[in-house]
Amino acid sequence: MKPLIIGNWKCNPSTLAEAKEIFNLIKNGIKNIKNVEVVICPPFTYLTELKSDSDLKMGAQDCFWEDSGPFTGEISIKMLKNLGCRFVIVGHSERRCHFKENDLLINKKIKSVLENGLKPIFCVGEVKEQKNKREFSTVIKTQIEKGLKKVPAGRVNEVILAYEPVWAIGSGRPCKPVQVQVTNLFIRKIISRLYNRNLAEKIPVLYGGSVNRENALNYLKESGMKGLLIGGASLKPEEFIGIVKDASHL
Ligand code: PEP
Repeated sequence: MKPLIIGNWKCNPSTLAEAKEIFNLIKNGIKNIKNVEVVICPPFTYLTELKSDSDLKMGAQDCFWEDSGPFTGEISIKMLKNLGCRFVIVGHSERRCHFKENDLLINKKIKSVLENGLKPIFCVGEVKEQKNKREFSTVIKTQIEKGLKKVPAGRVNEVILAYEPVWAIGSGRPCKPVQVQVTNLFIRKIISRLYNRNLAEKIPVLYGGSVNRENALNYLKESGMKGLLIGGASLKPEEFIGIVKDASHL
């Protein structure tokens, strides 16, 4: 599998002109890099305007599980699919924290994303307090078990797992590669127990949390991660392109 580098723009930038500028710089910068899969997840409002291609794919930062109906303010997976999105971030810690998304709701989204033929980027990770109390493994295990509840083995191979320790996100304090490696193995153990060893070996596990050009390769090389979920650095074209280029030399 090619390394998968995903940019999560969150609630940025403020104007379409800026979004187009960043997107086009990235698109030109990674042109002809064929051995890395690159996805940008901009805010919903820019999805129609940014033109993806085979080098740069589109993802959404969230979704709603129903196809249509009286759900004010929501964006369905069908709508995203019709706009050319192939990936959807589900269960990002900022949604869990600020919008009180729980495991039940995240599970509904994951199942619906899969039913619609898109790939969920399923985020898991512990907050600082849980880390300090050494509750890390219970938190990750519970999030995965509940998030993947009733997801059949035939579909789980389309899931992308992203380990994002919440204390590392946007903090400038990334998780140590050795700890990420331990988590990678732990996640695969959970998948093996829930499904089977073959799936556990194949499922892509990404790392996210204060990734920059300096530390990115450590996670791909030392920690055995299949890719990266990048917030802040994905809005800096030069830095993001640099990460993609470095990953292409692996
Ligand atoms: C994220 O938003 O998923 C993230 C990892 O952010 P950052 O890279 O800015 O820490």
